[in-house]
Amino acid sequence: SVLVVGSVNADLTVRTARIPRPGETVLGGDAVTSPGGKGANQAVAAARAGATVRLIGAVGQDAFRDVALRGLHAAGVDLSGLRTLEAPTGLALITVSASGENAITVASGANAHVTPAHLPPDLSGVTHLLLQQELPPEVTLHAARQARAAGVPVLLNAAPTRPLPGELLEQVTHLIVNEHELTALHPEGGTLERQAASILPRGPQAVTVTLGAQGSLTVTPRGTHRLAAHPVQATDTTGAGDTFCGVLAARLAAGDDLPGALRAAGIAGALACTRPGAQDAMPTWAEVDEVLQA
Ligand code: ADP
Repeated sequence: SVLVVGSVNADLTVRTARIPRPGETVLGGDAVTSPGGKGANQAVAAARAGATVRLIGAVGQDAFRDVALRGLHAAGVDLSGLRTLEAPTGLALITVSASGENAITVASGANAHVTPAHLPPDLSGVTHLLLQQELPPEVTLHAARQARAAGVPVLLNAAPTRPLPGELLEQVTHLIVNEHELTALHPEGGTLERQAASILPRGPQAVTVTLGAQGSLTVTPRGTHRLAAHPVQATDTTGAGDTFCGVLAARLAAGDDLPGALRAAGIAGALACTRPGAQDAMPTWAEVDEVLQA
């Protein structure tokens, strides 16, 4: 099974003519609430793709809790390790302008109060650990160390961009970043491929760079694996990266080899771009498999 240790948020989105400047008030459309947080998003993507998924994280007792958990419940994610803390549920305040720009404020709330004590005492039954960077760094590091000590591979999506401690990178089996996040890791210069390869000596056995409509690039000590994107009419790319990471973990847990898992993840990421929203847009395994079989 896949264990996700990560963030759970409610997203509150308002469309406006433009992003307000400091001190300015802008009238917008109706507020839309939807479930989010990279941890929850990736857990839902993995579960939709057919994996047995358990999420460790935290929410509050407020009204946003139900919004935050809606997709996780619907996807059948095991929430027995989810804590309810005396802090507000994590909330992302998202303003989207008519020109498609966005401005996002994240109130971490309960996510910031997850501690290593909330991690499960043993990882029996867990085949893959999937991490992001929206929880306190000591929790992510502790989970990674625990997994490696138990022989469980660690997938880290180093998003959002924030300092990635060397001691965490050392524990990572497979690092997944987009182009922007790769740059923040201060790789040696040169082509994307060389930049990704320069991360390998720092710990991971594989580094995948997701490239939006250009697909993805994965380097391992054995060489480079380039994958073209599955061509789609993209209307909303929100959650594409989260879908990619969740499905990658799910397919590795299902026994796929790395190229096979990457192929499924890329197709799933592409399909997620054809529908609005994050979790609501994530494909089922049947949808991904239909493309694979075509
Ligand atoms: P992020 O959301 O983290 O920036 P990307 O935009 O790189 O991540 O998307 C993750 C993956 O989803 C890509 O590697 C690709 O396989 C797929 N994807 C994203 N955008 C598109 C697109 N416009 N067309 C086809 N596939 C896409």
